[in-house]
Amino acid sequence: TFISFEGPDGAGKTSVINAIYHDMTSRLGYQKVLLTREPGGNRISEQIRDVLFDDQNTNMDARTEALLFAAARRQHIVEDIEPALKAGKVVLSDRYIDSSVAYQGGGRHLGTDDIWELNQFAIHGLLPQLTIYLDIDSELGIQRINQHRSDQVNRLDREKLRFHRDVRASYLVLAQRHKERIVVIDASQPLADVISDTQRAIQHHFKN
Ligand code: C5P
Ligand code: MG
Repeated sequence: TFISFEGPDGAGKTSVINAIYHDMTSRLGYQKVLLTREPGGNRISEQIRDVLFDDQNTNMDARTEALLFAAARRQHIVEDIEPALKAGKVVLSDRYIDSSVAYQGGGRHLGTDDIWELNQFAIHGLLPQLTIYLDIDSELGIQRINQHRSDQVNRLDREKLRFHRDVRASYLVLAQRHKERIVVIDASQPLADVISDTQRAIQHHFKN
């Protein structure tokens, strides 16, 4: 079972995914659940992550950025996700293809269709059965980041309001287009409610 978690910055994705992971491991055991993040998971993908987030790489071209995210994704699939799925595990991925479509396609204006197509080459057919999209108003999201995470911002965290609005708009279009896979959760609610909505969505999606 493959579940991805998506959302703009400040949606509370990390807190929600940790709660879901805790809940699943307490029911299934640690060996049965893989919690992993993009870009990352393995040595090669983490090295690509370092290039992407390096504060000195202010001159990175947007298409280069999109290709690096896709490359990190490919390696993450082959080294981490597919082996876990073959072993019968539940895979919880912090971000996947929809992040590229929203951030590089929408936020950087590379075109959501082009970025979707580019990533078809990378994922080679592997889509999650379920994607939890944590939806948050862009102003509120930015407000939350500034309150909670001023300590660990990187190059890609310093975008303007306009960028975040474009990212969110692209996520919402994706959610409309892929209703069979993407569930929209209202992440402006208190964290406990966001978590319980997410738990309910997962149970509902896999109920039989
Ligand atoms: O998931 P997390 O919030 O840790 O993402 C780290 C940073 O990478 C964020 O600033 C996010 O906006 C950025 N990002 C991006 N393009 C992606 C995925 C993440 O700019 N495809
Ligand atoms: Mg972030």
